[in-house]
Amino acid sequence: MKKCLCICVIVALLVSLCCFVGCNVNDIEKISKNLDDYTIVCAFDEQCNVLSATQTVKITNRTNNTFDSLKFHVFANAYREDAKQLVVPQMYKLQAFPNGESWGNISFDSVMVDDVSVPFALEGEDLDILSVPVEKQLFPNDKVTVQMTYEVQLANIKHRLGYTENTVNLGNFYPILCYLENDNFCCTPYYNVGDPFVSEVVNVDLTATFPQGYVVASSGNLTEATATENHCTYRYQMPACRDFALVASPKFNKISQNVGDVVVNYYYFADENAEQSLAIACDSFEFFNQNVGAYPYKTYSVVETDFCYGGMEYSGLSMVTSKSESYNEAIVHETAHQWFYGVVGSNQIDNAWMDEGLVEFLTLLYLDHAEVLPLQKSMLSNIKTYTMYVDVLNNYYDDVDTSFRPLHQYPNDTQYVLMTYVKGSILFHTLYETMGQAKFWKALQHYYKTAMFTVATPNTMTTCFEQMAGCQLAPIFAQFASGEEVIGKITD
Ligand SMILES: [Zn+2]
Repeated sequence: MKKCLCICVIVALLVSLCCFVGCNVNDIEKISKNLDDYTIVCAFDEQCNVLSATQTVKITNRTNNTFDSLKFHVFANAYREDAKQLVVPQMYKLQAFPNGESWGNISFDSVMVDDVSVPFALEGEDLDILSVPVEKQLFPNDKVTVQMTYEVQLANIKHRLGYTENTVNLGNFYPILCYLENDNFCCTPYYNVGDPFVSEVVNVDLTATFPQGYVVASSGNLTEATATENHCTYRYQMPACRDFALVASPKFNKISQNVGDVVVNYYYFADENAEQSLAIACDSFEFFNQNVGAYPYKTYSVVETDFCYGGMEYSGLSMVTSKSESYNEAIVHETAHQWFYGVVGSNQIDNAWMDEGLVEFLTLLYLDHAEVLPLQKSMLSNIKTYTMYVDVLNNYYDDVDTSFRPLHQYPNDTQYVLMTYVKGSILFHTLYETMGQAKFWKALQHYYKTAMFTVATPNTMTTCFEQMAGCQLAPIFAQFASGEEVIGKITD
């Protein structure tokens, strides 16, 4: 996700790298053979703002554990009126609900396991976990097929999932298997701070029907399109996809450009500089493609939409908030997420710094490369912002916690942004300065190649960086994580 940050300008740096890194894109075909399969057939009703769907998930138990039930996140239920916490932090409420409060939910008609109806249940701290019992226990290597029929009622909200007068955002709308950590389901609730998501990559085959006149931006490749008098139906496929999303609008225009073999699309409805926005998407895409590693999918779509933060990343698709102040920067930020969040996953609940901090720093490296904003200047600004914030807190509290924490342990959204994006970018800048630019890029390439299509841990990242640096970096990671000595070191 992109949150607006106060980043200004001063000096110029010397960077210009173009070391092409070859990643084996064929890996995706090999990888996809050993992943769960999601087949979703859905239709959008514009009268009621309801998405009706049937979803089939073919799951293999790849753990050493035996399960009595399967757990799915149903984030659509976070939009309920009676949800324990509002779907956005209070400070974003007016932005998110310009027409007043509006609610959504998900309701299930049926859930079947291997063609037999089962007594499913909504559970979890805030009814956002779907529990699906399996009649016979699911042993290691067992396979099971879950089929569910459901309706998602969309709220009138500028958020990941919702409709506005301009667009229909369909992010996190479908039930997604909870992440298996240490062979157990992580049934974390939805949090309104940060991106409360972590998921394995899966193969998605999604067919969506929209009323005639809607233009649809989507993750994955369009493989079929058919039309009737009133409707258009599109089929998309995406192997090794972390999270599939669509945005639809009758107002969309679309322009495209190739970057190598990848088609980069830009969907927009109000942007008066659409060609420039596409150029920024393509140029930053190429920069990350060359410096980090090859993007493994065939398409990438940047989508102007109504949203309450700066933007939001999905596999192969980025939502960018219409008319946001830092629109171009958000395009770059979300594009960088395709590499770190999308291809290389991480636990965004426990370790949000791993993708947000890195992506924020990569954005600054790109802005420096593109001669928009020198790195020294942007980093100085981030350091000032961070130290000022901590100074202010220190005036009020005895013991200020500056550690990296799981999302729900940040007292508010501001502190989450400061710690994760701003301090996160300072961590990666510190590594960049310590290792030197050549080794930094090599480490990122190594990390990308090592962790692609997985959910990387801080340990994977540290090890990859140390291997390329040829020196110990664990103490730097540890100090930033714990919040010790960081401020003193930076302000020296
Ligand atoms: Zn982000």
